[in-house]
Amino acid sequence: MVKNETSLTFYGGVNEIGGNKILLKDRDTKVFFDFGMSFTAKKQFYSPPFLSPKNERSLQELGILPQIRGIYKFDDSVPDIDGIFLSHGHLDHSAYLSFINREIPVFCGETTRTILQTLSNIKRVDLEFNVKDIDFRVFRTGNKIKVGGIEVEPIHVDHSIPGAYGFLIHTSNGTVVYTGDYRDHGAKPEMTHQFVEKAREADPVAVVTEATNMTGATVSNEVEVEGKLDKITSQVDGIMLAEYGYSDIDRLNTFYKIAKKNGRCLAVSLKQAFLLEALANDKHLKVPAISDDGLLIFRKSKKRYDKWESELIDRFKGDGKMFDVFEASKQQCKIILAVSFYDFEELVSLQPTSGSCYVLSASEPFNEEMELDYERLVNWLSHYGLPQYHVHVSGHMMPLQLKVALRRMGGKRIFPVHTENAALFKKFLDNKDGQVQLVEKELEYKL
Ligand SMILES: [Zn+2]
Ligand SMILES: [Zn+2]
Repeated sequence: MVKNETSLTFYGGVNEIGGNKILLKDRDTKVFFDFGMSFTAKKQFYSPPFLSPKNERSLQELGILPQIRGIYKFDDSVPDIDGIFLSHGHLDHSAYLSFINREIPVFCGETTRTILQTLSNIKRVDLEFNVKDIDFRVFRTGNKIKVGGIEVEPIHVDHSIPGAYGFLIHTSNGTVVYTGDYRDHGAKPEMTHQFVEKAREADPVAVVTEATNMTGATVSNEVEVEGKLDKITSQVDGIMLAEYGYSDIDRLNTFYKIAKKNGRCLAVSLKQAFLLEALANDKHLKVPAISDDGLLIFRKSKKRYDKWESELIDRFKGDGKMFDVFEASKQQCKIILAVSFYDFEELVSLQPTSGSCYVLSASEPFNEEMELDYERLVNWLSHYGLPQYHVHVSGHMMPLQLKVALRRMGGKRIFPVHTENAALFKKFLDNKDGQVQLVEKELEYKL
């Protein structure tokens, strides 16, 4: 076996949460794992909607999009990448597919393809998110995909979006494991356990792991979240406003169950209804049917609806599914209303009755911009006398569990990505034999 022909280069996800773009080279084969948008890098220069990147050149100039040839659709280079594998559909792992040359195949789970295509249909023309004409090739757990000289084995993991995978990448120098984003306290921890066991069996030469949650870790799980939400719902007199991630289907399922149990309906947004419709065809996924009595669609008051919105409204207007703020106002004790902070203008018409409450079931603000919005959120809640509960579990592994999983996988080298605390992680892992390799952006690491 010839050594030093396999390498990893990290074009994103370095000292930041998200933006993963990991190039694996093995002899003549070049494959990217994830091609996400880096929110951190973008925020250093831009403040949408008033200051947004005009084109891909600006993004490259500012170091937000890597300057590589043979991968993009906007330069004149010939495609020089054999494929891109996506771990899951969060935008910090997938959005910059927008710029990819359409001749390069993109491998992902079926659910990820559905989520990205649905989102693409919803968004107006967007420089940084457009998957039109992408050559998606769909895989499932257990598939072995040959790309050039390597073989990639996707294995499902549990994360805060359905259809998340980690990868075993069999190269000429042994197996490289890439975890993507994962956790073992969600609705399906057994998926992550199966991934860890498979990784262990492969005796990896390297493990590229996320290490998001090194500060502010908690002990909880999705079952506990359900219990807490049940308790709150059973005691709320008025309306329950619930904020959770649009693609967090596990949390949606939890709210739906709790609503039913407490004699309420869950009213979802047009956007989420559109996604649920698309995911209903995914036979491996459990999502509530829109036709179910326990589900309503909340139509936000707007002067003009986008085409997909009008079509959705037309599809469901006949059967009492559509629900506006005036109807919601009359039946406050009968619903859990899925809202986002950006819908709060609706509260003026809704007029929440006393005894109502707001439940934040997503991450707490973790950056300055969100903190500013958070202040406004608190002002709205005070104005309407709505107490705030925070009931959530993160989509990422907690430190102690992460340590156990990595010990179990036993990689000869460990590369932490998707974290702002790589140095802390390295110390925490008891790095006696120099197993943990801190990563620098765009440096090539030979395996
Ligand atoms: Zn991520
Ligand atoms: Zn994620």
